[in-house]
Amino acid sequence: MFLNCGYPAEWVNGKAKYVHVSVMEEKLGRKLGKHEVVHHKDGNKTNNDPDNLMLLRTQSDHGIIHTQNRESIEVFETKDGSAIVVKDQKPCAYCGGMFVPNNWHNKYCSLECGAKAVLAKRPKVPPTVDPEVLARQVWETPATALATEYGVSDTTIKMWCRKLGISKPGPGYWAKKSAGVLE
Ligand SMILES: [Zn+2]
Ligand SMILES: [Zn+2]
Repeated sequence: MFLNCGYPAEWVNGKAKYVHVSVMEEKLGRKLGKHEVVHHKDGNKTNNDPDNLMLLRTQSDHGIIHTQNRESIEVFETKDGSAIVVKDQKPCAYCGGMFVPNNWHNKYCSLECGAKAVLAKRPKVPPTVDPEVLARQVWETPATALATEYGVSDTTIKMWCRKLGISKPGPGYWAKKSAGVLE
């Protein structure tokens, strides 16, 4: 037996094999899968007591165990002897489903929920707004005056136009018009 990167290992058929791998394979009664990793629960690389070893399905799960705050993850040992690591979950602000956020600012479980939330927040164009009339008005009356007429903000007018696909004057249009440059 010798140490390889601090882990006890031995020669098996001319290849160095970690003892923790052999112990885990014996415990499982099978060879380790291609992506499986054996973790030392107590952090002691030389403690190869079967109870101190944990089988993880992937190196990425293993990475989580070593890098994340232990209080923000949950480790489930499954019946087949492997463990599943679950990062802290939170409810999606749109659908309410639990999800694992990539970073703590993520509010939605998916891009779809994020998009739906944006749409839900966007005020609808009231049925009293006639698209044809509005399309004409935006070229006759400056947005601020039009907003007062409708009793809304000019941002709302802008939003209605965007939603209804109405093109409106660009910046400088009214100044040019009043200066007599246009028409
Ligand atoms: Zn480990
Ligand atoms: Zn969701």
